[in-house]
Amino acid sequence: MSAETGTRNIVVVGGGIIGSTTAYFLSRHPSYDPSKDNITLLEASKIAGGASGKAGGLLATWAYPAALVPLSFRLHRELADAHDGRERWGYREVNCGQVDCKGRAIEKVEKKSKDGAKEGSSVSLEKRSAAALKKLKGAGVPEDLDWLDADAVNYYESMSGPGETAQVHPYLFTTSMAKLAEEKGVKIELGAMVKSINTTSTSEKAVESVMYSTPDSDAPKTILASIVVLAAGPWTSRVWPSAPITALRAHSVTIKPTRPVSAYALFTEISLAAHTLGRPAVRAAPEIYARPDGEVYACGEGDSLVPLPATTANVEVDQQRCDDIIASVGTVSEELREGEVHARQACYLPNTAVRGGPFVGLTSVTGLIMAAGHTCWGIQNAPGTGKCVSEMCFDGKVRSANLSSLDPRKFGV
Ligand SMILES: Cc1cc2nc3c(=O)[nH]c(=O)nc-3n(C[C@H](O)[C@H](O)[C@H](O)COP(=O)(O)OP(=O)(O)OC[C@H]3O[C@@H](n4cnc5c(N)ncnc54)[C@H](O)[C@@H]3O)c2cc1C
Repeated sequence: MSAETGTRNIVVVGGGIIGSTTAYFLSRHPSYDPSKDNITLLEASKIAGGASGKAGGLLATWAYPAALVPLSFRLHRELADAHDGRERWGYREVNCGQVDCKGRAIEKVEKKSKDGAKEGSSVSLEKRSAAALKKLKGAGVPEDLDWLDADAVNYYESMSGPGETAQVHPYLFTTSMAKLAEEKGVKIELGAMVKSINTTSTSEKAVESVMYSTPDSDAPKTILASIVVLAAGPWTSRVWPSAPITALRAHSVTIKPTRPVSAYALFTEISLAAHTLGRPAVRAAPEIYARPDGEVYACGEGDSLVPLPATTANVEVDQQRCDDIIASVGTVSEELREGEVHARQACYLPNTAVRGGPFVGLTSVTGLIMAAGHTCWGIQNAPGTGKCVSEMCFDGKVRSANLSSLDPRKFGV
């Protein structure tokens, strides 16, 4: 804060779910005074262009870290209540289970694609008979989870139900947070690629300004900053090299099933017969989430084949990996097998180079706050992170949770 004017110049780097939700909570903090305080969010490409727009969206009381989860799970419900999140970003409670399956043997599954990318043969319909439903029940499958093939399920185990698990549509949630923040005075600059965070040259370093480039100008721009929130997800170590954060690519697809399916998030283990993926027999473990917008989301395992590109706009999508996810989920559900593929996509997860994370808190540089490294639970933990960071900025300390275990200084930042 400027000693003379009392003005706070807060710059948030990154418009994923962490940066956008942080901007939202900054704009709702009781001490925020839009006539004095400047909050700017700098986003290199577009809001939710990375993992925050392409994640599954599961929220769970059993997620990690324990320091953030209960607060964040509760805040998700409160945000949905306050802003009609059920309608606006698909917040709903959901059942969650793990299921072990034997995928039906299919020579090659090719899906009808909305964008016409792939047209191909599909497997004949198999009507849900009383005998099939009995088989599902025998494997422990709940009655309303009737969109798994009866012959496919070896066993089903419930992990949690409503009250313990919920979901949001990550893209809609993140863009809504950014919009709600903007409505209260946060300035959002898209195409703003942060090049450096400048600090004082005194022995006790403090942030002074942020330098960034924009597509409309050859010369870099500089914005004054008394507080900088580093929320660049997997790119964080490119902006601040001592951040122990790495990147892992993951592919996902969305499919419009042949009929509405019940609200389940499924962790699967599927043994696939030889040739299903055009290869020898393998086991696949796609996560499959039914969504309230009528689509089903499925994601596969991560890979390190292609290094993190410069921006979210340059992420390379490997069509074969998307085809593999589509084929594997198609071996256990007629509704997915016969459904229409709406999206084939990839993104990078912010992973951590050390045990622990995310890193949320003050750093060894005065005014520099880190909120990054949320691994596979960034959607679940975004509201808790944003709320706590807003308290660090305006109150100088966190009031809503004890985040000492996530302190970036413990990890050399
Ligand atoms: C397949 C998959 C499924 C997932 N499912 C779930 C789930 O079900 N539940 C859950 O809780 N989590 C899930 N996650 C994890 C979650 O998606 C991430 O933890 C979360 O999106 C990370 O958010 P972020 O804002 O830190 O990063 P990002 O979403 O990557 O956002 C970072 C932003 O920073 C911007 N940026 C980068 N560099 C700069 C720069 N120099 N200047 C300005 N801006 C910059 C980028 O353009 C980007 O928009 C999943 C992740 C994957 C990959």
